Amino acid sequence: MARAAAMLGFGHRTFTAIVIAIVAAVAVLLISSDVPAALITLVGGIAAALLAAGAGDETAEVVDPRVDATEPAVPEIAEVIEAIVEPVLIVNQGRVTHANAAARALLGGHIVGEDVRLAIRHPAAAERLASAPGGVPQGPIDLVGLGTLDQRWQMHVGRAAGGQRIVHLIDQTGNYAAERMRVDFVANASHELRTPLASILGYIETLEEEAGADKAVRSRFLKIMFDESRRMQRLVEDLISLSRIEAEKYRLPDSAVDLGNLIDEVKTELLDARDSRGNEIAADIGAEVPPVAGDRAQLSQMLHNLIGNAIKYGRPGAPVAVRLWRDQTGMVRISVTDEGDGIAAEHIPRLTERFYRVDAGRSRAAGGTGLGLAIVKHIVERHRGRLDIASTVGKGTTVTVLLPAHGTTVIKR
Ligand code: ADP
Repeated sequence: MARAAAMLGFGHRTFTAIVIAIVAAVAVLLISSDVPAALITLVGGIAAALLAAGAGDETAEVVDPRVDATEPAVPEIAEVIEAIVEPVLIVNQGRVTHANAAARALLGGHIVGEDVRLAIRHPAAAERLASAPGGVPQGPIDLVGLGTLDQRWQMHVGRAAGGQRIVHLIDQTGNYAAERMRVDFVANASHELRTPLASILGYIETLEEEAGADKAVRSRFLKIMFDESRRMQRLVEDLISLSRIEAEKYRLPDSAVDLGNLIDEVKTELLDARDSRGNEIAADIGAEVPPVAGDRAQLSQMLHNLIGNAIKYGRPGAPVAVRLWRDQTGMVRISVTDEGDGIAAEHIPRLTERFYRVDAGRSRAAGGTGLGLAIVKHIVERHRGRLDIASTVGKGTTVTVLLPAHGTTVIKR
């Protein structure tokens, strides 16, 4: 029957319905011998079977727009939260039902299924999560010391169907550290300025009261006041430099700067300076060093600070060696070596922090502001270079700067 249906082009069910209509018509004819009634039964039956088949075809043609073979299935909630890099938990009736990898790494793999107050062991978090799920929406809260002691997190709690909560933790440790640095910087800068200012005001008062009459005392006091004013001036100049360099951080300097030439220039300026300590500056400039892509004024300041430090902290009278060469990779290297006391290893990573000094008294006595290496670091970063400090206590220090060459031009000497 299936084959006969196929041959006639009908579906199996339609063919059966037609056969039943024919049988019914024959039965009517046999029972009542009424030909019109048998014909009506036959035509009506076949028509009904064909209409039903047509309707079936139409139903088959209706395409469910939600079902698209090329479209991937909607991801499961567990997959969605797993793909989020920050810790996310789903809480239902006080228990953690889902926790993504970041949440498990922070709070422990055991938290799924646990009471949320045990999972996030923090009083402020427990209080927030204990509040009624349907209450007034509340802002994020800060959690200090979750994970490690110095970590800071911001906890957001969102609502989901059936009183479930979505807990999202955002790491604020970096932002907090940056804010702390800004606050410390302002406090340090104010302190550094206030100290010489207080000294100058004190001497002015003393000069006004009694000491002004004695010429020798007066000139001694005036010398101190001059030195303190110079100290303030150096500090203000360094602060201005630092903010200028930071403001230009993302503007790549592109002038071709001949560092050999610049080293000679800085060397002469430093040897002429009032505070030179009699050190010889031995410059060894490589034969074929390309110019660097740079900002001449900033590179000059970088050399002033590095050679200046080697003179300040080097052994008095001992030579300071400045080398310039091109390394195998084509980059330009400058190194400044002194024969001073050196720096203990634990201080080296912190030397480029603003106002960090190994020996504050020595730095101040030598006219240091504590900002020299921070400025160098920013200049090197702006030039897409690298700064290395190597030191041996009792032997001396070598600071090396690596800078990219400008184009492919080579200066022949
Ligand atoms: P400062 O104005 O104090 O010299 P810097 O930022 O230039 O500030 O340097 C920070 C600190 O690093 C200095 O106070 C000093 O303790 C140390 N330092 C820098 N250069 C040298 C060096 N060549 N030898 C020994 N210590 C150095």
